[in-house]
Amino acid sequence: MNIACITFDLDDTLWESGSVLANAEAKFYEWLASVCPEIAQTHSYDGLGAHRQAHYASIPEIRHDLTRARLLWLESLLREWGYGPELAETGFRVFWEHRNAVSLFDDVKRVLGKLGERFAIGAITNGNADVHRIGIGHHFDFVVTPATAGAAKPDSAIFEFALNAAGAAPENVVHVGDDPMRDVAGAAAMGLRTVWMNPEGTPWPGERRPDAEIRRLDSHISVIDAWN
Ligand SMILES: [Mg+2]
Repeated sequence: MNIACITFDLDDTLWESGSVLANAEAKFYEWLASVCPEIAQTHSYDGLGAHRQAHYASIPEIRHDLTRARLLWLESLLREWGYGPELAETGFRVFWEHRNAVSLFDDVKRVLGKLGERFAIGAITNGNADVHRIGIGHHFDFVVTPATAGAAKPDSAIFEFALNAAGAAPENVVHVGDDPMRDVAGAAAMGLRTVWMNPEGTPWPGERRPDAEIRRLDSHISVIDAWN
């Protein structure tokens, strides 16, 4: 196999995301309660999450772009209470700062650095993490998000967008990700080779198996060496 490019999912592939997102939501709610107490008195923490999801459902053409969808939701919520849109930017920033306060899995920097010497490196994420904010942006030749590609994984359009960015044919690209459907099935459907990041050793839940499975990122280098 002639590997030209390796693409990585971000959340739960390069860091654990559940606790980070929960903390970002909590910090955002704290901020909202301090600047617009009447909103927090009306919407509990959980109630506000449901309110946001309901708003996302009302904007299906935008919801794949989590940054824009969150901003639109927040603008509309604040408008209801007589606040201007500029406050939405501040509120989004509170969420975003904490959302990017991730702890990288062991070896992320070393593995990206080593592979980057030999291959183009890309990120394909459905989320709105910012690799530059996180301090690993220099390892990536390109980053593809639903905001830039106009679609989210597993839609083939986002993988096609990444292939264009890489300037590579699908059979020369390896995608690594934790989500069996979005990452593995989505990339396989576009003809990319797939590596399933499976830190917990969960049984494979899908039909067509990934081309390789790893529990730690450093194992990825030996998978690539075996293929190349
Ligand atoms: Mg993921």
